[in-house]
Amino acid sequence: MENLKRLFDNNRALVEQITRDDPDFFSRRASKQEPHFLFIGCADSRVPIETLTGVAPGEMFVHRNIANQVLPSDLNLLSVLQYAVEVLDVKHVIVCGHHQCGGVRAAMGEANHGLVDFWLAGIRDSIQRHKEEIDAYATDQAKFDRLVELNVLRQVFNLARTPIVQNAWKRGRRPLLHGIVYDLKDGLLRELVLAVDGPDKVRALLEANRRSVGD
Ligand SMILES: [Zn+2]
Repeated sequence: MENLKRLFDNNRALVEQITRDDPDFFSRRASKQEPHFLFIGCADSRVPIETLTGVAPGEMFVHRNIANQVLPSDLNLLSVLQYAVEVLDVKHVIVCGHHQCGGVRAAMGEANHGLVDFWLAGIRDSIQRHKEEIDAYATDQAKFDRLVELNVLRQVFNLARTPIVQNAWKRGRRPLLHGIVYDLKDGLLRELVLAVDGPDKVRALLEANRRSVGD
């Protein structure tokens, strides 16, 4: 219970600190949200995106799952995406992977993990598509790091293919899609692909990562 108490204590201290400078901070946000970003990231506890990027409450709509997957059968993800794009009108959708991702590591191994293996099937597919490239890396760590990146690129492509994003682009080229990676070792976010804003950019993404995203 001591750990749980710490959460409430920290929450009270944070609210006091914020409202000392801005007494209406929370009441202003209670009536509406106008986030510019939808963040799709891994559920890993070491990737607290709001803390890492310094955004305030109300600035980022967030969806997290194991290994930051964008699966066309995932009603949870699709509902979040539709609301973010069609109602909140976010400008940016960011897929963020991270090094040392347990989900990617599980997909690389032979062990049986039960239900989560179904979830990670897309990553196993990427491993097969990129087998030649991945096998060429000298160390297991280098293979692992590259697969984390390929997984992000695959999910950006999956995102671009959803009817939600396709329809939004037909209406006015929002949102921009971005793929980034978080390096746990130095705490920095790094760009993989930025500002995918329509079919042309998707084709370029496809060309650059043909074996990853398929055709
Ligand atoms: Zn992860």
